Order: sequence, then C-alpha cells, then structure tokens
Amino acid sequence: FATNYYVVSREFVDILSDATADTEDSDSLENVTLNIAITGMTGAGKSSFVNAIRGLPNDDKNAAPTGTTETTMKPSMYPHPSMPNVKIWDLPGIGSPKFRAKKYLKEVNFHTYDFFLIVTSERFKENDIELARAIKKSKKLFYFIRTKIDNDIRAESHKRNFDERMLLENIREDCKANLLKVGIPKIFLVSSFNLEKYDFQKLISTLEDELPENKKFALIQSLPVYSLEALIKKKTYYKKLIWLNAFAAGVGAIAPIPGLSLVCDYGIIKTFFQQVFVGFGLSNQALKALSERVNKPLEQLKAAKTSRFKDGSTEDIVIDMLSKPMIAIAKTLGTILALLPGGALPAGGTAIMAEDTKNVLAVSQLA
Ligand code: GDP
Repeated sequence: FATNYYVVSREFVDILSDATADTEDSDSLENVTLNIAITGMTGAGKSSFVNAIRGLPNDDKNAAPTGTTETTMKPSMYPHPSMPNVKIWDLPGIGSPKFRAKKYLKEVNFHTYDFFLIVTSERFKENDIELARAIKKSKKLFYFIRTKIDNDIRAESHKRNFDERMLLENIREDCKANLLKVGIPKIFLVSSFNLEKYDFQKLISTLEDELPENKKFALIQSLPVYSLEALIKKKTYYKKLIWLNAFAAGVGAIAPIPGLSLVCDYGIIKTFFQQVFVGFGLSNQALKALSERVNKPLEQLKAAKTSRFKDGSTEDIVIDMLSKPMIAIAKTLGTILALLPGGALPAGGTAIMAEDTKNVLAVSQLA
C-alpha cells in the first residue's frame, strides 16, 4: 500500500501531543512485566490455579503439571500464552516442618514478584502464616486463596438445610480465625474450575485497587474471559488502550513528517484488533480451553461468533472499515479523527468483538 496514510488536522496532532504528555505509562505498556507468585502446600491446587488464570485446561500441553507429588525446590515460570511479559510462578511447596519463611523467600527470589497468592485447600497452617508475615515485612502484597470451593459445596449440598451462602461465610470466618496473627487478612474463596463463581472477581477488583496502573492493565488484559463481568472490565481497559496504542504506534510517525501530517498505517489498527480478538477470548486456543471447561462442542462455540471479526483481524476488514466513502463522510462532518486510532473506528471494532464474546459466553452458559 503506497497510499496508506492520511493527512490529518492540526487539531488531531494537538490532541495527540496533549494526551501523550500525561501518559508516561504508554511507552512502557508493551514492556510492562507482571510477575505473579503462587505458593502454598503441595496439593493445595497451585498448579491448577496457575492454569486457570492462564486460561488453559490442566491437560493442555503448555499447562503446569497438576496432581503430582514431585517437590521441586525451584520456582517454575509459566508465561501467559498471549502475553509473555505476564509471568505466573508456581513456587515450591511450603509443607515441610523445617520450613523457614525468610530463607524460602530468599531462595525463591522474592524481589521478582509483584504480589503473592498463598493458596490452601484446607485450613491455613502455621507455615502459611509464617510466610505471610515474612512477605508483609518485605513490604510486598499478598493475598490468601482458599481453593477447591466447588468440592466443599458438593460435599455439603446433599444436606437438607444446605445454604451455599452460609457455607461460604463459615469457610471465610474459619480462614480468618486461622489467620488472626496476620492482621486483617484478605481471603478469597475460589474454584480453579469455575473462575466465574465465588470470590475470583473480588480478588481481581482488589488487585486493581492495589497494583500500579500499568501493572493492573497487564493483569486485566491477560485474564481469560470467564464471565460477562470480566468482559465488561476488559472492554473498559481497551478503551484506554486505544489511545495508548495510537501513541505507541503513531508518535514515531508524526515526527519526521513536516506539515502536520500523520502516517496512519493499516497495520496499527489491524494489530490492535488482533489484540482485542485474543484478549476477548475469541481465538481458537481460548475457545478450545473454554469448550473443555464448560463441556460444549468447540464447533458450537465457534458458531456463536457471527461478526466479520470471527476469524480474527485481517487487513481486508481494516481496509473495508477505512473505505473511501467512510472517510468522505467523516471529512464532510469534520470528524476524520473518528476514523483514526483513538477514535470510533477501533472502538467500533472492539464493540463488535465484545458482541461475539457475549454470544460465546451465552452458549457456554456463563452469561
Ligand atoms: P499443587 O500441588 O498445589 O500444584 O496442586 P494441583 O494443582 O496439582 O492440584 C492437586 C489436585 O487438586 C489435583 O487433582 C487437581 O485437579 C485438584 N484441584 C485443584 N484445584 C481444584 C479446584 O479448584 N477444584 C477441585 N475440585 N479440584 C481442584
């Protein structure tokens, strides 16, 4: 494409430079790393949780091995399948009676991690508490995760007076009572097989409150779309990303062109759309994992995608969306801005893909 650029107005360049001025995160966004540490006793469900937040079923070839009793003394790193800068670390088990928290933290290189998730499937034990206190001393963030909640529910649900809410409340109180020595602990009840249930969403909201801006961005982008709520959250973040993306890609292009013009490559928008496609869980890989989890045929989930983006972002779609009549209309209205990154074009594509995801969630009975 020899003609894949547009000359835009002074106004657009001003808006761009204004917006770049206060987004110091923008240039580092692609490079931002997030290191999540998952620790706890062997068998607590660490590896399964690692896989769940990576959106992988336990039997995926890239999944962390589960159900093994092998006790390695080294942290295993699992990169996120589509965001290699998001790294999830399965730390060695802390079950040994000779456990020393300070030594352990040193050995696992605790500086590396942005936060720790201390996982148990039963009561929190002395080692969990000792570890939490040592993490607290080192001024790192940590959260308690009580896993396998689906098992607790299943075990109790046949009882005549079964009340799920009461049961969850009891488990929560019981955990709190075990953790009195840690101050006010943040406890989340989860099932790695049902992220849409229980406290997983609350955990993410808490992390959003407590992580720095660019880190929470990476976190939200990397999570699988496990519910409608998760989708809405992602959509909000992509709205912000639309601008950041435009700068990351566009800033270099503005400078060498005198006369206030801007090179707007189709590629920028295509790449952005592809990011949204993967981020919204519409890729074959994501749908395959979902299909196994919710026990629906893959073909049925694929068929739920009906938009032009159903097979991902292509140059043809972008060219079509930027087709001449659209530009002409926009020019007439004086809103060419609307077609460029940061305007209605990427927002439009994002909304279209969000509809596909909603349909997929509906077929999966997650929405
Ligand atoms: P790790 O040793 O801490 O890494 O624990 P694993 O992830 O290997 O899990 C131990 C066992 O518990 C495996 O058989 C898992 O399938 C099972 N498990 C893990 N998380 C959950 C969960 O949330 N719900 C249920 N029902 N089982 C789980």
